[in-house]
Amino acid sequence: MAIIIFDDVFLEHNTGNGHPENAQRLLNTREYLKSKGYWNDNNIQKPEKCSIEEITSVHNKEYVKRIELMCEKGSSMLDADTRLSAKSYEAAIYACGAATTAVDKIMKKSCKSAFCLVRPPGHHATPQTGMGFCLFNNAAISARYIQSKYKFDRILIIDWDVHHGNGTQDAFYDDPSVLYFSMHRYPFYPGTGSKNEKGNGNGLNYTINVPLDAYTETDEYFAQFKEVINGQAKEFNPQFIIISAGFDAYINDPIGGLGLEIKDFTNLTEIVVQLAEECCEGRIVSCLEGGYHLADLPKCIEAHLNALS
Ligand SMILES: [Zn+2]
Repeated sequence: MAIIIFDDVFLEHNTGNGHPENAQRLLNTREYLKSKGYWNDNNIQKPEKCSIEEITSVHNKEYVKRIELMCEKGSSMLDADTRLSAKSYEAAIYACGAATTAVDKIMKKSCKSAFCLVRPPGHHATPQTGMGFCLFNNAAISARYIQSKYKFDRILIIDWDVHHGNGTQDAFYDDPSVLYFSMHRYPFYPGTGSKNEKGNGNGLNYTINVPLDAYTETDEYFAQFKEVINGQAKEFNPQFIIISAGFDAYINDPIGGLGLEIKDFTNLTEIVVQLAEECCEGRIVSCLEGGYHLADLPKCIEAHLNALS
């Protein structure tokens, strides 16, 4: 069973009343997973926090400092969607720390895969700025961490959040050492992620965007997912796989607009696990991104956990 990385600090990133990205997402998930026997001392682990050097492997120093100072002053808004509170900076450095802690545990063979039950999410955070509920890019920072600490040079990031992970794309757009693959509704927030965005320079063809119409048929969704996984992703032969696991492609998500059912998150995960077994001894770090259906997000996460080894 995959371990789950969690800390109460993630509940203290306060986005204010009525915000879809709120602490109740994790509270409900914790309660549900407890009732299902997933939540016990053996598989819940606390994260270390990320160092400034690890965060600035993706983000510029001025931006990181700016978030720290804004949070010291209390509540504020980074943009129209992205709110900060006094504890948001701390939550964010532990959220990326969850991903790097997960990497270390997998490399020490304490487990094959790990799920980071974190907030704030990360995949919209670009090197220059946070946006779209995201402060620091948890998936991107863990990819850089794997590269610098373990000297791997083929990292695959699979992003099935309903939104395009523009921040992750930006971080590796000209970098052939990280293959970024995103399935997302398009056109949709944040506006990027067309098929023509394929990377740049040495990174050309190391960004794969699969834009989808709203409520694309699930068969079509899986056909496109498998085509990339069994094609370019397998050819890339990743040494480590990171999943940007958003659950807002779920059919009843209040802000999503794709058609996946709860069980589909098991099926998606099985496909990735198979690739990981073939290429990289099963090594997968999965980071929670979006997913805003408060009652069903925990079930989508359970479906994902059921297939992680
Ligand atoms: Zn999303």
